[in-house]
Amino acid sequence: MKALLLSEYKHLALTDMPEPEIGPEEVLIRVKACGICGSDVHGYDGSTGRRIPPIVMGHEAAGTIAEVGRNVKDLVEGDRVTFDSTVFCGHCFFCRRGQANLCDHREVLGVSCDDYRRGGAFAEYVAVPRRICYRLPPELPFSHAAMIEAIGVAVHAVSLTPIQINDTAVVMGAGMIGLLTLQAAKLAGCGRVISVDVDDTRLEAARKLGATHTVNAKALDTPEHVKALTEGRGADVAIECVGATATIQNSIASVRKGGTVTLVGNITPNIELPLQSVVARQIRVQGSCASSGEYPACIDLLSRGAIRVEPMISATAPLDKGPEWFERLYRGEPNLMKVVLEP
Ligand SMILES: [Zn+2]
Ligand SMILES: [Zn+2]
Repeated sequence: MKALLLSEYKHLALTDMPEPEIGPEEVLIRVKACGICGSDVHGYDGSTGRRIPPIVMGHEAAGTIAEVGRNVKDLVEGDRVTFDSTVFCGHCFFCRRGQANLCDHREVLGVSCDDYRRGGAFAEYVAVPRRICYRLPPELPFSHAAMIEAIGVAVHAVSLTPIQINDTAVVMGAGMIGLLTLQAAKLAGCGRVISVDVDDTRLEAARKLGATHTVNAKALDTPEHVKALTEGRGADVAIECVGATATIQNSIASVRKGGTVTLVGNITPNIELPLQSVVARQIRVQGSCASSGEYPACIDLLSRGAIRVEPMISATAPLDKGPEWFERLYRGEPNLMKVVLEP
């Protein structure tokens, strides 16, 4: 089969590789669409240590069943599916209490690090355990279905955030996860959703997708602006989708006393925390990792158009154009959001 192999850092090439073999509990998927994730772009040059070559990346995908393992009885060839990026074991302490995202033996498709190497979906075929697959409705395009993994991240973060009807939420960052999170926050009952970014094009997209207010953090003092919109109190919750000191500090300063800040962005290992502001104002700061059990809801939300992804898809391209698109994303070409490869 053809696969996009990262043979060394910053070098991707369409390569002939053996088709993956499947175990009794696994299925072979004919990949129809696979999104390029920010983490793939960051892994491409070795800076994250999570894409050690050689590796076929890709974990935001959808396709059809090509073959099923001996013990798989409820899927057949041709079924349209998507799958979680997290391969969980199903029997550790965390899996058994319904937190597959925290599995002790967690592996992520298309990742190779010091602990494991697992081939991903920038390929004609990928093998995955049956237990991470979900059936897709017939009318949902594969390129949209490839975004379900990211929708899961947003829906999980919002589910962890205590939101009451008509609350005000700040969503820090209007990249793909931020744009999905603001839609999920509205669905969860937020009356006002304030999207914050430094890029006006992204803020424009945020408004189109339902943000009631937008703040360009380069032009305005975010916490002051949020307070002005909330009778001087601050927002009830903030969901942080960037992961840097400045944006986390702004999130903390933008919530009211007793508010919650949910951290999703994860680009820096350490940040500087304004401890006294968190403690004295009794702020809850919590992390949110991947998703856990939200896939069926995400598939339904996307199929019904309650969550929209098409404004975020900048391009779809065949697999052999992958190296070019990786380069363009890596160079940080403006106005590029999600690029979906179609093997
Ligand atoms: Zn991803
Ligand atoms: Zn487990």
